[in-house]
Formats: sequence, C-alpha cells, structure tokens
Amino acid sequence: MQTNFSLAQLADPHVAESEKILRKCVHCGFCTATCPTYVTLGNELDSPRGRIYLIKDMLENGRPADKEIVTHIDRCLSCLACMTTCPSGVNYMHLVDHARAHIEETYRRPLLDRLTRAMLAFVLPYPARFRAALKLAKLGKPFIGLFEKIPTLKPLSAMLKLAPASIPAASPMASPGVHTGKGTKKGRVAILTGCAQSVLDPAINETTIALLTRLGVEVVVPQGEACCGALVHHMGREAAALASARQNVDAWTRAIDQGGLDAIVITASGCGTTIKDYGFMLRLDPAYADKAARVSALAKDITEYLSSLDLPEPVRKPGTVVAYHSACSMQHGQKITRQPKELLAKAGFVVREPREGHLCCGSAGTYNILQPEISAKLRDRKVKNIEATGAQIVATGNIGCITQIASAAKLPVVHTIKLLDWAYGGPKPEGVSEGNLVAAE
Ligand code: SF4
Ligand code: SF4
Repeated sequence: MQTNFSLAQLADPHVAESEKILRKCVHCGFCTATCPTYVTLGNELDSPRGRIYLIKDMLENGRPADKEIVTHIDRCLSCLACMTTCPSGVNYMHLVDHARAHIEETYRRPLLDRLTRAMLAFVLPYPARFRAALKLAKLGKPFIGLFEKIPTLKPLSAMLKLAPASIPAASPMASPGVHTGKGTKKGRVAILTGCAQSVLDPAINETTIALLTRLGVEVVVPQGEACCGALVHHMGREAAALASARQNVDAWTRAIDQGGLDAIVITASGCGTTIKDYGFMLRLDPAYADKAARVSALAKDITEYLSSLDLPEPVRKPGTVVAYHSACSMQHGQKITRQPKELLAKAGFVVREPREGHLCCGSAGTYNILQPEISAKLRDRKVKNIEATGAQIVATGNIGCITQIASAAKLPVVHTIKLLDWAYGGPKPEGVSEGNLVAAE
C-alpha cells in the first residue's frame, strides 16, 4: 500500500513503524474472511482491511481520532486472526496498538465510557482491588436486569454477569519464594503469578507448580511481579502498560541473576502474547531494551515448556473426550497450535477440535465488558461449535476464555494444565465430576 507520510512525521519512531506495516498491506482482503467482527457485522469498516484504511487515514493526516474510527477500533478484539491469515506479513497487532494509544491521547470519550475504562484499569490489574470488587459485585447482581435496559450501563451489567458466585481464597503459593523440584533437577523456571487469574482461579498456578515440581523443575515466584500490562495496553494506556512491563523485566532479571532461568512460564496465553512482545514495547528505552528482549525470549506458555521436557508415562490413561479451545492469544498471538493438543493426547485424552476454531470466543481481555453484544454473539457461536463435538470437558489455556465459555456452556471448562496434572498423578480438577471423566466408548 502506498503511503504519504512527511519526513517530519516519520521522525516519530511509532509513526515510522506503522508506516512500515502499512506498506506491507496489498489490500487483498483475505483477512476479512477470518475476522470475527466482519463475520458477525458484515461491515468492511469492521474488518482488518477497513480498520487499516481508517488508521492510515488518521495517522497520515496527523488527525486526532474521531467517533467513527473509535467505534471501529473499539470493536476490534485484537484476536489477531487477521495476522494468521495475512499472506503479506502485516503486523496488525503493532498497528492497532499504535492506533489505540493515539486514540487515548487525542479522543475524549463520553463520561460513562471514561469512567468504566478508568475503573477497569484501576481494578483489574491489582488482585486485592479485583477481589474486593468481586465481593461488591455480589451486591449488584440483583440489578443486572435494570442495568441491561440502559444502553450506557450495559458494560456494568456485563461485568456483574461475569462475576463468579464465589471467590476462591488467595493462594499461599502465589507468595514470592522458591518451590524445589523433586528428585533430579530438570530445570529452573519463574512463574507469572498474574492478576485476574490469580483471583478467579488460583488453582491454575497451584496446579502448574505442583506438576512442575513433581517433574523435577524448580519454580521461582519472583518478588515484585506485576500484571503483565495487557489489559491496559489494549485500552491504549501506554504509560501504564510500559510501567508494568518494566516492573516485570526488573523482577525476572533479578531471578535470572540469582540462579538462572530456563523459562518464564505463563499460564494465561493473553499474558504470554504481551510478555513475548516486551522486547518490542521497550525497544526505544535504552535502559530496558536488552533486558526486555531477554525476558521475551525466555517467556513460554506452560504447554510450550512442558513439551520441551521428557515427560514420563501418565499415571492414568483417561480416554475422556476433551474439546480443545485454542485461545486467540495462543494460536494467533503466539502461534502455539500443536503442543497443547499433543500433550493432552499423550496424557490419554481424546482431543476434538471444534469447528471454526480460528474464531474468537468474544472474551478478549475487557472486550466482553466493553462490547457485550458482539461478545455474546461470538460466545454463543463458540459454545454451539464446542458442544457439537460431543466432548465431556472443554480445555483451554486462557482464563478469559474459561470465564467467557463457562458463562454459557453446559460442560465444565478447565485449564489444560489441570487435566494434564490429573493424568500425571494430581487430584481431579475442581468442577469436573467423575461422570465427565469417564472414557469414551
Ligand atoms: S490479508 Fe494482509 S495484505 Fe491482505 S488486506 Fe488483509 S492485512 Fe492487507
Ligand atoms: S484482530 Fe481480530 S477482530 Fe481485530 S481486525 Fe484482526 S481479525 Fe478482526
């Protein structure tokens, strides 16, 4: 695509990067067919190609964002299905990240929208605040129907609907420390304790630590970790996202210096996509660029890391039929497609893949709160495809997808690590009944 940026505009490294991306797009439109918002809404401006044109026009003309571009960029899930499909290697992720930061800097949203976003950014990345907010949400649940009827309060209604009925106790394993591996030492990793996941389902990281240490891997919970920054990054809050990234880079650099790390293990693929991008996000900061690139290179999804180990034979061979839902951040963001399914199959599960597996479930960070209607359509479509597999359990590797799919599915939805841990001698995953675990006929 031809671009017309002035030399003065290109002196801004963010604009120069976006110009490089724009020039790669050949407007072929292949990406439209796999874009969930285009498939759902049928509007070219809600397709990757349409959004690319809108972003190009805004950046080239050095204009502040307007209502039209904000509407269509806000509807983008950042699912990155377009990047998987694009034959020209257009890095839509970095382009839309730049557009979101530009929107945040130049556009004044309506008051309620500003308040909702400010509240999400203030609460979600901080486990103690999120836990308190979920307790408060219980009081708001009776008003869901009322909020639903007022268009500007729909995000509040969506938030209350997603809030779980009970909140598990905080995990002692999330405290900084070292969990020694059993037997011969096979490796040493740090684990991201995370933010929302550590409140909604602390058992995911507990199970990960239990399985890794049983396999002989030492697991470090470093002092000073923060939220990965993805939630605010996707809201265009660049300064907050970079502050989180720097805090984590510091925490993991200390852990590397104090004993080396084979990997930084991440159990939420949404976080993994962002941490693997720290090297890019901090490339312009001379104090952090090298350290961030090192951290990104060490970042591994738990299934990627487990696949690099020589796993023993599982303790049980379940034969249970599992529908594997590949989170967008897993398959499109990190291009991890093979390992989770292979691990499940090796552990004795019968793995089925739902139709339209490339389409987002509608979770996408805060999307199911900020765009509840499109999100619900995508969720229902996803659940229908999952239930059509005839599986007894749904496995996936991202807390956002677990919460989203579980809000409509009749099957238990669990993190992949819990099924693997069970097969390798751990306890039965919570929320899964014996009936769900019977072998397929
Ligand atoms: S598939 Fe790639 S090159 Fe084609 S329109 Fe989409 S982004 Fe542009
Ligand atoms: S990131 Fe997803 S929703 Fe956004 S344009 Fe690409 S395919 Fe469409």
